[in-house]
Amino acid sequence: EQAAPAPAPAPAARKTGVAITHPDRVIDPSTGLRKIDLVRYYESVADWMLPHLRQRPVSLVRAPQGISGELFFQKHSEASMPGVIDLDAALWPGHAPLLAINSLEGLISATQMNVVEFHTWNSTAKKINQPDRVIFDLDPGEGVTWAQLQEAALLMHTLLEELGLQSWLKTSGGKGLHVVVPLTPRLDDDAVKAFSKAAVEHMARTLPQRFVAKSGGSRRVGKIFIDYLRNGHGQTTAAAFSARARPGMGVSMPVAWAQLASLKSGAHWTIQTAREYLSFSGEDPWAAYWKTRQSLTAAIRRLGRD
Ligand code: ATP
Ligand code: MN
Ligand code: MN
Repeated sequence: EQAAPAPAPAPAARKTGVAITHPDRVIDPSTGLRKIDLVRYYESVADWMLPHLRQRPVSLVRAPQGISGELFFQKHSEASMPGVIDLDAALWPGHAPLLAINSLEGLISATQMNVVEFHTWNSTAKKINQPDRVIFDLDPGEGVTWAQLQEAALLMHTLLEELGLQSWLKTSGGKGLHVVVPLTPRLDDDAVKAFSKAAVEHMARTLPQRFVAKSGGSRRVGKIFIDYLRNGHGQTTAAAFSARARPGMGVSMPVAWAQLASLKSGAHWTIQTAREYLSFSGEDPWAAYWKTRQSLTAAIRRLGRD
């Protein structure tokens, strides 16, 4: 059974010396949210967000014309952002160095350079070929109701529990939900991805009216695609606490499983509402995530038997 979340202090906003240019420029025309609002948001969640970024290759979604303009998905250094560091180039042979953010300064200087979203790998630089998490990205097809997506997340949680794995939930900040399984880094990307594929195929086989294991096309209408492809080598997913470059600027918020029923959408919290929410919540629903030691070995065996 999962340990009760340990109380953690609500995060206090911290400031850096990073100079913010054009602070009042509106970056989300749908709400009037400004660049400075995003800076304040990231300052306020930095203490909770940085553990999710530390030493992990990060891709940045930049929105130089605001989120209604063209977005740039950037895996390598293109502009000077103090605190956004180059990882060892040997981690990804044949490419420019991957980036990582280990500090508040990096988080804010990226925001100063119009980065809105932070997407991370499932492994850290220390063990780049051995993921320390599996992600199930629940993507609702057209016509899927929110209640069906909530139920899908619960079913995913139950399957993982049956396989002996603890998992954690976060909103995507967009349309869906992400279920995250922390791992002791041991198996390689291919083995982890194969497990995630087998788990999703199990779901689709068991409840074909609700799930599909393949993306794309008409087969997804009315169904939920559980995207296991996020688990391939070098793939990324929006990090916990990342804002999203979508109207309303939802954030990917870690939540407790008990909160699932009360969520209204994948963008339940936004950069406008997240800070107030976090300042009132006395405990970190993901506290035990960081202490979990589990591997896929037994789960792979159990899944293979069905
Ligand atoms: P939603 O809940 O709306 O599905 P999401 O964050 O799960 O939100 P997806 O569309 O399911 O979004 O996932 C897109 C994934 O593709 C992200 O995890 C992102 O890291 C990855 N990705 C890879 N390349 C790009 C790119 N060029 N632009 C945007 N995303 C990219
Ligand atoms: Mn998704
Ligand atoms: Mn997806």
